[in-house]
Amino acid sequence: MDIEPDLRDDRGCVRMFDNRDLMDRYSSIILENNAKVTGYLQTSLIEKYSDEIGNLAQIIPLEFGVHSHTHERSTKHFAKEVNNSLNAYRDYLEVEPLGYRAPNGLIDRDGICTLMEYQFKYDASIFPSIRLDEYGYSNLHLPNQPFRFVHNGNEIIELPVTCLPTIRLVMSMSYIKLLGLDAYKTLMRLFPLPDVVIFDSHPYDYYVNRIAGNIHGWKRYAHLRNADQAFELFQSVISILRNQGYEFWYMSELYEHVIRGLSNLTEISVEKLN
Ligand SMILES: [Zn+2]
Repeated sequence: MDIEPDLRDDRGCVRMFDNRDLMDRYSSIILENNAKVTGYLQTSLIEKYSDEIGNLAQIIPLEFGVHSHTHERSTKHFAKEVNNSLNAYRDYLEVEPLGYRAPNGLIDRDGICTLMEYQFKYDASIFPSIRLDEYGYSNLHLPNQPFRFVHNGNEIIELPVTCLPTIRLVMSMSYIKLLGLDAYKTLMRLFPLPDVVIFDSHPYDYYVNRIAGNIHGWKRYAHLRNADQAFELFQSVISILRNQGYEFWYMSELYEHVIRGLSNLTEISVEKLN
């Protein structure tokens, strides 16, 4: 889960942290299913929500990664965001982060190299799909399973958000709400999920109907599809994965697992990125 302010909320609020009921509903799904969450922190939130973030980590199995400092999307400011977020993360948690996820999956060649320089163990920014809106990218040439980026003798593990194979449809709360669970179930039968599934979400995915006034144009309708059933859909996705034999791991556990099988891992030059 990318722990960041609610969509287009000027005050930087996270309603899941402001509202006990939302926090309880989310936490109980995680607890009842023995699930685990890796929360990529937008570190500017720490100032406002340090207590709430800490509480969530007391209630559910939660580890942290980094999701920029201010959610700046322009890759021109990537290195500054990494530096600032790393400092805030260290101050707050007093450990080094293992992984980084860039805002909106926007990372380029220099960005991956920056994460290598800052000695992150893995990146989790890549959506091996295609996106057509203002944050557009095409990553269809990149693997849909963990791989390693290499550059001048350096490397970093990439743990990409999972897509359904072939059609490269992203496994995320937002897309599942948009297309509906029945569509996903059908597509999952036709294009079975790979062994590793990295499932993406945000706090606001569970209550986007409460912030609909912030969202304009076609995206408002897209976000509002199935919005009332978000928690139920999340539970259904967890049940489907469990029934298919998946176990729930932190991203750090996945990273350790991937490292053990390093020699089998596809190697991709960072030159393959823009
Ligand atoms: Zn984000």
